[in-house]
Amino acid sequence: MPRLMWFRSDLRVGDNRALNRASAASDDGVVGVFVVTPEQWREHDWGEPKVGFVLRSLADLKDRLATLNVPLRVLEVPRFGGVPEAIVELAREIGAEHVHWNREYEVNEIARDEAVVEALETAGIASHEEHDLCIGPAHEIRTKSGGFYTVYTPFRRAWEARFDEDGGYEPEPNPKKQPDLGVASDDVPEEVDGYPRADIDWDLWPAGEGAARKRLSAFIRHRGDAYKNERDRPSIDATSTLSPYLAAGVISARVCFHQAYEANSDKLDGGSEGLVHWMRELLWREFYKHVLIGFPRVSRRQPFRADTRRISWRDDEEAYDAWREGRTGFPIVDAAMRQLDQTGWMHNRLRMIVAMFLSKDLLLDWRLGERHFMRKLVDADLANNNGGWQWSSSTGTDAAPYFRIYNPTTQSERHDPDGTFLRRYLPELAELDGKAIHDPPALDRERLGYPQPIADHAKARERAIAVFKDA
Ligand SMILES: Cc1cc2nc3c(=O)[nH]c(=O)nc-3n(C[C@H](O)[C@H](O)[C@H](O)COP(=O)(O)OP(=O)(O)OC[C@H]3O[C@@H](n4cnc5c(N)ncnc54)[C@H](O)[C@@H]3O)c2cc1C
Repeated sequence: MPRLMWFRSDLRVGDNRALNRASAASDDGVVGVFVVTPEQWREHDWGEPKVGFVLRSLADLKDRLATLNVPLRVLEVPRFGGVPEAIVELAREIGAEHVHWNREYEVNEIARDEAVVEALETAGIASHEEHDLCIGPAHEIRTKSGGFYTVYTPFRRAWEARFDEDGGYEPEPNPKKQPDLGVASDDVPEEVDGYPRADIDWDLWPAGEGAARKRLSAFIRHRGDAYKNERDRPSIDATSTLSPYLAAGVISARVCFHQAYEANSDKLDGGSEGLVHWMRELLWREFYKHVLIGFPRVSRRQPFRADTRRISWRDDEEAYDAWREGRTGFPIVDAAMRQLDQTGWMHNRLRMIVAMFLSKDLLLDWRLGERHFMRKLVDADLANNNGGWQWSSSTGTDAAPYFRIYNPTTQSERHDPDGTFLRRYLPELAELDGKAIHDPPALDRERLGYPQPIADHAKARERAIAVFKDA
């Protein structure tokens, strides 16, 4: 009997533990399945860029699986509640007695999987879950007192010690080609209900595993060494831009880490500063997954730090709209928000700047920003997005101290000194030079049709510090 492999946020053939287990355990082969759940996605704030990317990745996955004779079925139910029945029905249809998948760690996903396990059990079908979303066993790392880590650096050290103990983490070999099962694949939809095609520059995000691997190799070969020095410059293509592929699981974090590790002569420290730094960024991803597993409240729209629940965020729709639409009058914030709109992606330094601007300068609830990012990002990922927002708003694990508030203009001068990035996204300011582009004089703003600043940073900073101190 064939086995069923349920793909979720692991849309790849290479280095996929559950797929490999299913393939190795069955003489009769594997049938793949993906379940489209548009209403649930909407409830989870998945936006058009993320859904579009997932569907494109799924189409590539189908082609790749076809080369192994693995058919891909695509089911659709509105919400997670319908998934158990859909999976059981398909398992019965193809005669599968075993269903495999890689675990996801968000609370609704865990509840969905528990319901699927129960429904399968009732139907006499076995389920097999693997931990495969992280590079190593992030779910098993514990502090000396047995708890989950809440600070990145000690987590990283413990993770690295475990890496050494385990002798590193090698990617898995690809599954073997199987005999033709005579099961037809389903068409992968180009669009699903309520999700029209996102109006972003899709050329930036070529679909599929091949594209992801190429991006990884090119990054390691050409930009890895310079990463530490250049990663904070939004005008330079200094980072890997692998985040959408990692979020949808088109490439595994293990393959990324392993390739950097190998290029650094099998060293976690020393060697290339850039590659070491990059591996450590991948471990931020690992850390935020660890936090998600250990503290499920972060996927329930709760701040990690309970005391910050007392903060009275301002209610100011006009300011929120200006932030979303890139009309704050702070060039670096507006250029960043336009980058998000046009590309579905934003540079990490800019994510921190605009998140601090929203939560500190405007004193608006960080959850508004978190939601907007989820809806707009092609790499939307609950753990990383929540981690980044709670870091920036000083409500989270290992967060920025509330009194260390970025000055957007100074940040702009430091990280985009010649204004190249600003000019790319704010062509109306292109003629300004020197310092003026970072904070245009009032008359220039009027003349060029660029808004006056919606906040006075010095005063806003004092207000935020006072509010946080009181909480
Ligand atoms: C407010 C805010 C929101 C964010 N939302 C998301 C999100 O929804 N999805 C997402 O993947 N990342 C998010 N990040 C983290 C980070 O900005 C992106 O992962 C990074 O910019 C992606 O670009 P890259 O692939 O070129 O990264 P690189 O610099 O090449 O890093 C490689 C990979 O490491 C991981 N990584 C890098 N930096 C971080 C970080 N600070 N935290 C966690 N993982 C990291 C990512 O998976 C990234 O793809 C957010 C950060 C902030 C401050």
